[in-house]
Amino acid sequence: MNALNETSHWVADEITPTAKTERDVTQRVAYELNKLEKRLCRQMGMAIMDFNMIEEGDRVMVCMSGGKDSYGMLDILLKMQQRAPINFEIVAVNLDQKQPGFPDHILPEYLAKLGVEFHIETQDTYSIVKRNIPEGKTMCSLCSRLRRGILYSVARKLKCNKLALGHHRDDMLQTFFLNMFFGGKLKGMPPKLTSDNGEFVVIRPLAYVAEKDLIRWAAHREFPIIPCSLCGSQTNLQRVQIGNMLRDWEKQYPGRAETMFTALQNVVPSHLMDHKQHDFKNIRPTGLEDENGDKAFDAEEFPTPARSGLPGLAGLQVVTL
Ligand code: SF4
Repeated sequence: MNALNETSHWVADEITPTAKTERDVTQRVAYELNKLEKRLCRQMGMAIMDFNMIEEGDRVMVCMSGGKDSYGMLDILLKMQQRAPINFEIVAVNLDQKQPGFPDHILPEYLAKLGVEFHIETQDTYSIVKRNIPEGKTMCSLCSRLRRGILYSVARKLKCNKLALGHHRDDMLQTFFLNMFFGGKLKGMPPKLTSDNGEFVVIRPLAYVAEKDLIRWAAHREFPIIPCSLCGSQTNLQRVQIGNMLRDWEKQYPGRAETMFTALQNVVPSHLMDHKQHDFKNIRPTGLEDENGDKAFDAEEFPTPARSGLPGLAGLQVVTL
């Protein structure tokens, strides 16, 4: 991909005002890509450390869907593996669910060229789902249940103890709002958790990575992306709605997604209302000053968020999605 094509994934404000010639653009894009690579590695490294995601001797099954996120995860994980002070193994796994038109040569060719250990599991869950779900109904819950079971059995067969999934920061925020708006729960998507059958540890090494960075990285690395609409399932309208809401907020108030993501890491159960998380019933005066105690009528103060278009706003914005 040449430099001018690459600029379509970066905001022109950052590149074109100072880059007048193709040579300027090339240099500027190279500079931004270098920063992007460092950021991706740093953010994945931090997530791995903060949640102790990968340990000495782990055998990590990296689940590959063929989408930009899973390619990005594998790509950066392989870089981390070379630099890590510990030894761990990576096995890339793709489940070919026999969706019509699935290009089954793309991932094996890509993974073989990469030289990474990989396994393609072929199981026709598509027909099972089609047979069991009436036309027009959403197929995702049966499909993902079947996929989960198959991935566990593959992990067992390949002797992997951890499963890495390619969910990123924006997926986590979306899930949080989906649960709050439609499920009545303050619940997100965990960076690390035991699988529901108790057998494996599921990790999300892209937990700190923004989707826009994965879009840029995928374009730069020219990953052979497989479309995700082959199953023909209807779009999850609630997820789309939340995704649009988050994008609109971010456009209007740049940095809001980052602030909300930080909030997920700063939970104060005593200031929520879940009596299972905090023992409200037995609260008594302690006689001690406590910064986190109730401040009665004092209003909390927050920095005023910047508004898009006002001076002082920084940053790149994605222009292609
Ligand atoms: S979108 Fe398609 S492949 Fe994905 S879970 Fe739903 S039915 Fe399965």
